[in-house]
Amino acid sequence: MGFTDDSKLEGGVADVSPALLADLAHANSTLESAEPQEILRWAADRYGSTLTMATAFGPEGCLIIHWLATIAPKTHLFNLDTGYQFKETLELRDRIAARYGMVVALEQPETSVEEYESMHGGPLYRIDSNRCCHDRKISVVRRVLTRFDAWMSGIRRDQSPDRSSAAIIGWDYRFGVVKISPLANWTKAKVWNLITQENIPYNPLHDQGYGSIGCFPCTRAVGSGDDERSGRWSGSAKTECGLHVRDEER
Ligand code: SF4
Repeated sequence: MGFTDDSKLEGGVADVSPALLADLAHANSTLESAEPQEILRWAADRYGSTLTMATAFGPEGCLIIHWLATIAPKTHLFNLDTGYQFKETLELRDRIAARYGMVVALEQPETSVEEYESMHGGPLYRIDSNRCCHDRKISVVRRVLTRFDAWMSGIRRDQSPDRSSAAIIGWDYRFGVVKISPLANWTKAKVWNLITQENIPYNPLHDQGYGSIGCFPCTRAVGSGDDERSGRWSGSAKTECGLHVRDEER
């Protein structure tokens, strides 16, 4: 199967055939209660070199890489290297490569941080974080996904209301590719249990109170009882960068 670049409409809804939607709905219902490793096998068998995974090196992404290293080690992996990532995050990329031999590609925006801040008279995240996320994340994902038929992420339904209806397998209307979320029905506790049990590399900032880790200007540590994503864009109504939106918000 393949999708032309024309199907990936900038900022809009890409065409998708009813037959493909029905096929994906069937796969989704078949795999709803499957273990993540089975979902990864299905994805790798079906999409092969046209499958990719985006990771910000959160615990879920690290866990999926741990499985992929055995199931499908040639799977393409990428990270949105906005220029604002923590050094601990970038160091984790090296630790993952050393442990698993899987190198996560760093995908960067068209402009460096210096060029971007110069264009906008300073850091745009302070006054327009939606635009900053669009320019340094969304447009980069859109560019990367023109090369693939399916992408995976480590989102879990219990992370936030925006993620609560995430399908295991579905059509991503925003980016015009199939979207696979092998950990959609997992919990934070299950993920961390396996990270500990298997000694899987993770971002050391989690041990310093960071629940969810993105760009350093928009991430802060949270209290132990706080929602894990409450440290992202805290003090604003923003809860997502726009990569993972509900279908009704596409
Ligand atoms: S998380 Fe913050 S710094 Fe990173 S792209 Fe979004 S607004 Fe910009």
